[in-house]
Amino acid sequence: MIMTAQIIDGKTLAQTLRAGFKKRVEALMAAQGVRPGLAVILVGEDPASIVYVNNKVRACEEAGLYSEKWRYPADVAPAVVLEKIAGLNADPKVHGILVQLPLPAHFDEAAVLEAISPQKDVDGFHAENVGALAQGKPRFIPCTPYGVMKMFAQGGIDLSGREAVVIGRSNIVGKPMALLLINAGATVTVCHSRTRDLKAHTRRADILVAAVGKPHFVTADMLKPGAVVIDVGINRLPDGRLCGDVDFDAAKEVARQITPVPGGVGPMTIAMLLANTIEAAEREAGQ
Ligand code: NAD
Repeated sequence: MIMTAQIIDGKTLAQTLRAGFKKRVEALMAAQGVRPGLAVILVGEDPASIVYVNNKVRACEEAGLYSEKWRYPADVAPAVVLEKIAGLNADPKVHGILVQLPLPAHFDEAAVLEAISPQKDVDGFHAENVGALAQGKPRFIPCTPYGVMKMFAQGGIDLSGREAVVIGRSNIVGKPMALLLINAGATVTVCHSRTRDLKAHTRRADILVAAVGKPHFVTADMLKPGAVVIDVGINRLPDGRLCGDVDFDAAKEVARQITPVPGGVGPMTIAMLLANTIEAAEREAGQ
């Protein structure tokens, strides 16, 4: 008998986590006089990036963190941004630095990410932090896959020995997601644009993570009945609505547990950014 899947409610989980963060910030303030601080750099006018940055800054304020936002026009010289990063690296008020991606084409994105102090790299994209994650000793876990791992933990979803399939191999989502699943004991397959017979892989997945960026890309016939389906995609439909990579209405009749879009992975990403920033401040304060 097929039952409708349980919805993994990222919005509520993120709210619960954020209430806890507020207490951690107050405790750090009381014990050490330190308020965790995040600096966000935004280059250009990409509407989605503007929304993401504003949401991140607002979430910081709500949890009692200090935050600052630095905006530059799309044609800014990369040297200007690199100089700002150097200043933030040395600024004791700032424990986390985030450069909103993507950057305009004339930027060397890797060089910008490497300019951020690894101790303040709350996105976890610096090569040193990627290496630490690959070795199973993470300093900062990239926020989106970190949020997904929290969803597994909260839902009591056991990963050890399970078949996990990740669709997407980006540095931001797919690759770190695969590393985290490997570290948690899953048997991991990473599928991408060159994968042949994608469905043959996804049909085996006890855990399926979709990070593709194409609406309704994952259809119900691609799922193993009873799978846990995590939809990372955020896509805007022509009518303005947001949707994920998974055909949610059909998939929820096959999956055992599934994340919605919106209200799934998105709110968790922001929550984990706060977690990383608070952790950076606690470490800096010697806790
Ligand atoms: P990306 O474009 O860098 O990567 C997409 C991946 O999909 C690539 O690795 C590519 O190989 C793969 N792909 C493309 N076509 C495919 C196909 N036909 N078959 C199999 N694989 C295919 O994107 P990204 O930065 O990893 O983001 C993916 C999605 O997740 C986007 O919709 C993005 O908006 C969303 N996202 C959401 C959050 C969040 O907080 N929920 C955070 C980051 C990204």
